[in-house]
Amino acid sequence: MIRSVRRVTLACVGATLASLTSLTACGTAQAPPAAHPALSTPRPTAPSSRPPTPRPTAPSSRPPTLAPGPTGLTPVFEHGSRTHGRTVALTFDADMTADQGPRAAAGERFDNPRLIATLRALKVPATVFMTGRWAEQYPAQARSIGRDPLFEIANHSYSHYAFTGDCYGLPTISQDRMRADVERAYAALRRAGVQEPMPYFRFPGGCYDQRALKALAPADVTAVQWDVVSGDAFATDADAVARQVLEKVRPGSVVVMHCTTSAAPATEEAVRTVVPELRRQGFRFVKVSELIGASAVPR
Ligand SMILES: [Zn+2]
Repeated sequence: MIRSVRRVTLACVGATLASLTSLTACGTAQAPPAAHPALSTPRPTAPSSRPPTPRPTAPSSRPPTLAPGPTGLTPVFEHGSRTHGRTVALTFDADMTADQGPRAAAGERFDNPRLIATLRALKVPATVFMTGRWAEQYPAQARSIGRDPLFEIANHSYSHYAFTGDCYGLPTISQDRMRADVERAYAALRRAGVQEPMPYFRFPGGCYDQRALKALAPADVTAVQWDVVSGDAFATDADAVARQVLEKVRPGSVVVMHCTTSAAPATEEAVRTVVPELRRQGFRFVKVSELIGASAVPR
């Protein structure tokens, strides 16, 4: 059982796959789509011969997204601008795998209310990538996080199954079910009371390939990876987690952490170290949407 937990959650902090970095589309933000989150109205795909032209973000309450890749693939965001101020986005994956309900019923805590309370106390904006299964298990918390302007909730799949064949031992979801899993997650988030989940998706384990990016293109989401691995999964030494974050953060960084006491018990304590230190260094905490929006290049 423990082994099973480890395998599942380690998948959330997988190092960025070097071989996939060429797929990223950092810095090509486009104006917010007309419909949000636009799962029902796919954006027109870009011409296949050249990258899409970046457009400035129009004044709007719609979240900014990246333009699709050259062949209409789901765009991938890894970090924000390195030259537009010292901003950093803390992201927290609220993991819960589809088959973990019985363990939650037996008392295992996949939530982390202390972490959310600490972020609120420290006034740290953050982006929570939530699985649909987590929202079903903790609807009051999902709703509360979703209503708090300090936070934004994005999609971490419904089942937390892998979108590639080999991803830290996670069960794999078939290509023809990928989009449905993402949409099932959005439905679960809305049922829990999250009114405006962001059109951002984080692959379980960060594992993706061209097939996955193609399968999710109609879902009209921006895939969000990271450039800083906190190493908080199963960590018991909060100082080590904090050190790792502090060593790696650069302007525009996206840090991946977790919002689950069961598999990331030291995260809240690490945050209490990381936040004041990064602020002392002049960093400002922002949500992922701000990093993506700031990537827009005016014509
Ligand atoms: Zn995860």
